[in-house]
Amino acid sequence: MKIALVAHDARKNELIEWFKYNLTTILDSGHQLFATGTTGRLLREAMIEHIKNDYPNEDNFIARFGMTIDYFVNQRITPLLSGPLGGDQQIGAMIAEDKIDALIFFCDNLITQGHQQDVGALSRLASLYNIAFATNRTTADMIITSPLFNSGEYTRIVPTAIANYKNRTL
Ligand code: PGA
Repeated sequence: MKIALVAHDARKNELIEWFKYNLTTILDSGHQLFATGTTGRLLREAMIEHIKNDYPNEDNFIARFGMTIDYFVNQRITPLLSGPLGGDQQIGAMIAEDKIDALIFFCDNLITQGHQQDVGALSRLASLYNIAFATNRTTADMIITSPLFNSGEYTRIVPTAIANYKNRTL
């Protein structure tokens, strides 16, 4: 599955903790990750640390996977622009283009962001396109452990409202 991850500054630690806890599942399931700039950098660091724990000698990793740890991590996590600089909008566009299956979006619910409108726009598109959408850890846990999510066989139904809107009579 293609999973987008975003966390506002006040919730980055929470997301990274969740990510580390679920990293084995994420790596084993072959999920592709996309993240806004700063979130992506932290996810990347966490993934490298996790792999280096298992492979303190990188030569063993290279012998097994045929690539460096850096190259492997670059394949698995695609960093986008930082959220306030357009990263949320990039993810929104990817959802509309059917390039994202799930969004884990830990928003700071206690303060208004400079890019609050982007936050609202991203949430709206995630809801509109019926992708798996978590705004908190409990829901993220339910998604990442779901057999439906991990089988790769689940067919997401695109809401009829979208087709109806495209074909509306003017
Ligand atoms: P960041 O963006 O990961 O670059 O901090 C998150 C956001 O505020 O949308």
